[in-house]
Amino acid sequence: MRRALWLLLVCLVVVGAAWGLMRLGGGVEVRVGEFFIAVSLPVLLLALAALFLVLLLLIALVRGIIHYPARLRARREARNRARAEAALTGALVSLAAGDADGARNQALRARRLVGDKPQLLVLIAEAERMAGREESASDAYHILSRQPEARFLGLRGLLRQAIQREDWEAAQALAREAEAVQPGTTWLRQERALLARRTKNWGEALALAGAGPARAPLALAAAGQEAEEARKAELEREAFKADPAFAPGVVAHAARMRGAKAEKRARTVLEQGWLAAPQPDIAEAYLEGEADPLARVKLGEALVARNRAHPESRLLLARLALEAGLTGRARSELEALAQSGEIDKRGYLLLVELERTEQGDTPQGRLAEAKWLRAAAEAPAAPQWFCGHCNRPHAAWAPLCEGCGTVGEIRWGRRGQANLPAPLATAAP
Ligand SMILES: [Zn+2]
Repeated sequence: MRRALWLLLVCLVVVGAAWGLMRLGGGVEVRVGEFFIAVSLPVLLLALAALFLVLLLLIALVRGIIHYPARLRARREARNRARAEAALTGALVSLAAGDADGARNQALRARRLVGDKPQLLVLIAEAERMAGREESASDAYHILSRQPEARFLGLRGLLRQAIQREDWEAAQALAREAEAVQPGTTWLRQERALLARRTKNWGEALALAGAGPARAPLALAAAGQEAEEARKAELEREAFKADPAFAPGVVAHAARMRGAKAEKRARTVLEQGWLAAPQPDIAEAYLEGEADPLARVKLGEALVARNRAHPESRLLLARLALEAGLTGRARSELEALAQSGEIDKRGYLLLVELERTEQGDTPQGRLAEAKWLRAAAEAPAAPQWFCGHCNRPHAAWAPLCEGCGTVGEIRWGRRGQANLPAPLATAAP
């Protein structure tokens, strides 16, 4: 509207000026040598206006000729884009319907029309994978990984392929590259944690693990791989702090304290471990270096003081008392243990030993021994280290089971009958 008003105003001004000039009259004379031209002012103005229009038309024509190929190209591209979009839709439909070859052909057609667009390459790779042509899929992912804006997509595809063919080294390298491109992705973090466990890279697995007791075994495993002593000590401390109920961490941290001549601190660590979860290795570490049987009983009492009624505490005190010849003391511990209903084979075998010590090779002694031996045969087995995945017993804790290759499943306790499948993240291949 405003433009129209402006135009009207300009027209009015021009017409007004022309009318004014006509009223004024007059002419223009041009003399060049012998030539002489004289025109009246209105005719000159008309001629100039006509010249201006011709010039405008000429310019428009030249521009049209120059831009003609570009316009032609744009039209062709628009047509190709429309065809490619139709092919892309067709490919998606084929993929959803499980027709890998159809999807691949449609996607390749779209690619011929519009080139290496990221979404097409992803689609082609997916279709190739669905058809079992991993190499061709890999080619598509490689092209993607070279495109700055789609690099992550390419790396992600290559990483998935590497994991599938269990090439852990390549997978780790790809995961690191992908992390650099797109830091902090949850999916990538999970994949990297899985890879670190698979490649037994405990330090990395620890770095990628969340907070909580699950860090303890990883920290101790990482300490086992660490060459530098200070870092080793730090990791052992972390294992203890993350879970004081994880006996191997407790024992390792206490041993480190003892090595640093911090005997009192070492004992406190072991006492804390015993309070959290009594385990024979902790007692063994606590009594280490003490040979006098009576002193060992005193040490044992100090260790179990804060967890006195636990079956492991009673069992430990009974054994130490028996070794020191304090049979009355041993008997009272073992009877309390039997009454608690938590006595196992070890408790009954100590009772057998106790009867032999107290009564010697007498008919009553043999009778009592036989009674406890029968009870031992029926009692639950002693707890031990075993793999929670394949149930295989282990002499000591280890980060992974040599039997089935499962990570983080070796635990202390009584072996169960159930052979439960491990979580996918830690399951063996
Ligand atoms: Zn196992």
